Amino acid sequence: MKVEFYKHNLELEDIKNVVEALRQPMLTTGKYVTEFENKFSEYIGLPYTIGLNSCTAALHLALLAYDVRQGDEVITTPMTFIATANAIRMVGAKPVFVDVEPDTGNIDADLIEDAVTSKTKAIIPVHYLGQMCDMIKIRQIANKYKLVIIEDSAHAVSAIRDGIRVGKLGDVACFSTYTTKELCSGEGGMLCTVDNKIANKVRMLRLHGMTNGAEDRYSKRYEHYDMEMLGWKYNMDNIHASLLVNQIDRIERLWKRREWICQRYEGAFGEMEKIGLLRVLPNSKSSRHLFTILVNKRDEFMGELQDKGIGVAVNYRPVHLMKYYKDYYGYKKGKYPVSEWIGERTISLPMYSKMDDKEVVYVIQSVIGIAKRLYLTT
Ligand SMILES: *Cc1c(COP(=O)(O)O)cnc(C)c1O
Repeated sequence: MKVEFYKHNLELEDIKNVVEALRQPMLTTGKYVTEFENKFSEYIGLPYTIGLNSCTAALHLALLAYDVRQGDEVITTPMTFIATANAIRMVGAKPVFVDVEPDTGNIDADLIEDAVTSKTKAIIPVHYLGQMCDMIKIRQIANKYKLVIIEDSAHAVSAIRDGIRVGKLGDVACFSTYTTKELCSGEGGMLCTVDNKIANKVRMLRLHGMTNGAEDRYSKRYEHYDMEMLGWKYNMDNIHASLLVNQIDRIERLWKRREWICQRYEGAFGEMEKIGLLRVLPNSKSSRHLFTILVNKRDEFMGELQDKGIGVAVNYRPVHLMKYYKDYYGYKKGKYPVSEWIGERTISLPMYSKMDDKEVVYVIQSVIGIAKRLYLTT
């Protein structure tokens, strides 16, 4: 049996829509992007959505929009994809890491204040695996020290905690539509905010700082454009947007399937002494982006899963131990012990709506079998 680590969930309606988009004269940013932006704004409950070509771009532009620059510090977590820290480096600022909670893997809000200095400009909490960070505490700290909150919501479109959605307490929220994410177009991302000044700035920054985009220039009478600021080339195009529009209607249905799979996994592994699990807190709805187990002899365990045809991933080995960050900032092992503990043990199992029941059972039996043999328990 072979179980892929991930299969996207594009359906016939998405394929029909992208074909329709391909028949239009203009393939770049245009009416499909606008339709997606408006629909996503309505879904997420934030008035402005700006379609981009990645979440990395969204994080980068969020930092630029708030004038975060060289000499500034930005607090984030080492238990994330490198994109989070890299975006901070892209504006020349310094990522200051704060360790995570052992039971959720989310940034430990109680440790954030100790990391604040006179140079701190922003906090980027990452809603790890799909469970939201403690945004109430993080908002209090941000208010006290006048910091901007940029939510890295790449894992968490549909998450809710304490009755609060992603992006509600942050200043901006950044999303990804990369191939394995909850909404998927291969590559893509968006930034959401309630602040129309920031939205306008990001809209300009996504396209070279130009005063009007391609749609404006070609669809109306030609108007000269000006360039008001140095921008990037991060705009989402109609092809990607056309794949995303209809997925918004399926978010809840697909979440239910992932929730069901996660509960099977939790039921099967919960009692096993040698298999650690992170947990979803009682007041929290995880978007269930990823499912991880924590095991000793991780690489051996992972090898055996792959021998059985099961796709796996590691989310994540902590960012501060990546070569670049070690060399650049002199980080050593021991600096963020909880992140390191998780980073040495974590394995992401296949978990996506297209998995069938047989595949779920096969993964469960394989994990239990490997654990019994590797740790010689019964
Ligand atoms: C996927 C991911 C990103 C980057 O998203 P892209 O769209 O690939 O740029 C950033 N942060 C986290 C936590 C992610 O998982």
